[in-house]
Amino acid sequence: MPRSKPNNPEAPPNDSQLNEAMTETPFWKTKTLAEMSNEEWESLCDGCGLCCLNKLEDWDTGEIAFTSVACKLLDGDSCRCSDYENRQATVPDCIQLTLQGLREIQWLPPTCGYRLIDEGLDLYWWHPLVSGSSETVHQAGISARGRTISEEGLDVEDLEDYVVDWPMRVGEERD
Ligand code: SF4
Ligand code: SF4
Repeated sequence: MPRSKPNNPEAPPNDSQLNEAMTETPFWKTKTLAEMSNEEWESLCDGCGLCCLNKLEDWDTGEIAFTSVACKLLDGDSCRCSDYENRQATVPDCIQLTLQGLREIQWLPPTCGYRLIDEGLDLYWWHPLVSGSSETVHQAGISARGRTISEEGLDVEDLEDYVVDWPMRVGEERD
């Protein structure tokens, strides 16, 4: 069964983005996704790491199931890509998330910053752009921190043993 992985930007929002978010009407409330700069687009990633988990697709139904098996380049603690710039060399099927791709992908978690904004919703308090901290996504229990194992050395045939539903449920009781 095929698997797919969109990108997980390597760096949390910078200080200017965080300051802007806290002092002015933030860009994600005034701009569409298509109007955002590359820097703004990248900063919408909350660093949850959920999209870097291996997924299985049912060939008959097209249904996607998450597993707790993470891409070999995902840092299971920070939930960031450990080699984002060069990731294609080791993970050629890592997808660069684009606006078009975002609308074609059906399995992005409901907490994903891109999905929230595209659906006309606001970012949650724990999003780094709102909280000013890259830790709150973990503190709120939204991220994959501490819940995964690496795909390194794992037989792809064994992925079915690691199917989980929490990536699509995390944050269900969020404020
Ligand atoms: S699911 Fe969305 S917010 Fe989370 S790491 Fe992936 S792109 Fe970023
Ligand atoms: S290479 Fe792996 S860890 Fe890095 S962004 Fe892609 S899926 Fe995530």
